[in-house]
Amino acid sequence: MEKASKSVDFLIVGAGISGMGAAYALHKTEKSFAILEGRNRAGGVLASREKNGYTYDLGANSAASSTSYLEFIQELGLEDKFQSILARSLPRSLWQKQGLMRITSPLRSILGARWLSPKAKWTLLTEPFRKSQHDAEESVYTFLSKRIGEEAVVKIVDAVMTGIYAGDIHQLSADVVFKELKEGVSEHGSIFRALRKKKTNGPRTISGFNGGFSDLSNAFEKKFADNLVLNATVQSIHRKEDQWEVTLSNGSIYCSKHLILTPPAHATAALLQPVHHELSAALNTISYAPMGVLHLGIPHGDHPLPNELGFLVPNYVNRSLLGALYISKIFNDRSPANHDLIAVFHRHQGEAESVYKMVKDDLDEIPFLKKDVTILDNTWWDKAIPQFNVGSKVNLQRITQLTQTVEGLELAGNYLGKVGLADVFESGIQAIERLS
Ligand SMILES: Cc1cc2nc3c(=O)[nH]c(=O)nc-3n(C[C@H](O)[C@H](O)[C@H](O)COP(=O)(O)OP(=O)(O)OC[C@H]3O[C@@H](n4cnc5c(N)ncnc54)[C@H](O)[C@@H]3O)c2cc1C
Repeated sequence: MEKASKSVDFLIVGAGISGMGAAYALHKTEKSFAILEGRNRAGGVLASREKNGYTYDLGANSAASSTSYLEFIQELGLEDKFQSILARSLPRSLWQKQGLMRITSPLRSILGARWLSPKAKWTLLTEPFRKSQHDAEESVYTFLSKRIGEEAVVKIVDAVMTGIYAGDIHQLSADVVFKELKEGVSEHGSIFRALRKKKTNGPRTISGFNGGFSDLSNAFEKKFADNLVLNATVQSIHRKEDQWEVTLSNGSIYCSKHLILTPPAHATAALLQPVHHELSAALNTISYAPMGVLHLGIPHGDHPLPNELGFLVPNYVNRSLLGALYISKIFNDRSPANHDLIAVFHRHQGEAESVYKMVKDDLDEIPFLKKDVTILDNTWWDKAIPQFNVGSKVNLQRITQLTQTVEGLELAGNYLGKVGLADVFESGIQAIERLS
């Protein structure tokens, strides 16, 4: 027998940070809405764990901020658990052939660096005098090598792109991941001038919560208890007259004129397959990079961890890890007394102990990491970060155009161009604005 259906003004599928953004935008209105989340908790890739006196995030570790993200945190009553520092207040290091090289003030540290050749520094400094031209979609490597020189790209940009996307600079599209910068160069003639003209909302911050991002998802579950349906995996969607009919795997049916899909691209593609074949196919072309996060407890010992953010590793040094964050230096109360907590990012799947063995030789090169560590957890993400490879610019435009042709449908999520938490949250808000 078919179950009775529930009807609401808006249906949101997925309670990750993008679904939260959509819910936040709707709760300010009089509209009725439901959030259907397949797992038994909200948060999506946001999840935290407490173990042996350490508190850590299995997915995202920190967020930048935006006005609406900060308002959301306030709305959830999380001000007391919120921790935020200025990004520039902690130096970071780049792993070069010579070892870990500290970056305090980016330009000064780079120009004074002994790991960058005089020719590379000259090429970097003379960037404003290089002619700019409007080029077709190109890779990060091609775009930036022309402007700041290959050596700076291989030794610096590659490490940063690995840190954000776990991606390949030869494949990532500059037109997507450096959209504003590339447009700025076309408009103002150089990267230096484009950066000077760039409008910012104040200095960049790095934020998190006392108990990790689970503080955020737990508070969301509480605040949106009347709207949130957990263990509600959407199995199929279809149009019935002027409504969306959404069927869950337990047979429940929800109806609404407005549907916002926030699962990852491949899961959204599967749901849209019977509704819009072309849109589904365009979503299916978006690939994701895998990544592992190994959490380690580090005793202070004779060489305590420096007060830094962590380090990034460019590919050319050929190491077993992508980078590390010194979590207990960024956030208070994340480790027991006289111990620190670090997250090591890598590409090895397996048990924490065996992954540690793979990265140990490299970590042992760093005096403050050559320790008798506590191996806490290794979390493997098969599809961690969407890859905006060359061709994505056109594909994302096509996804936007095709979505507009489907009445009452909007998409939100990190595969639409920006992967940072505050931006992905914003994508949920924007989806509601487009539908309203
Ligand atoms: C290891 C890792 C580290 C990261 N580090 C950072 C960082 O430090 N800073 C930062 O800003 N960003 C970071 N990111 C990126 C950031 O976490 C993501 O971009 C963002 O959280 C993605 O949110 P989302 O809502 O798009 O997707 P998700 O979090 O994947 O949410 C989608 C939700 O949809 C649900 N769902 C899927 N299918 C269905 C279905 N059929 N029915 C019902 N529900 C369904 C899922 O269960 C999930 O809850 C990191 C990501 C990873 C993986």
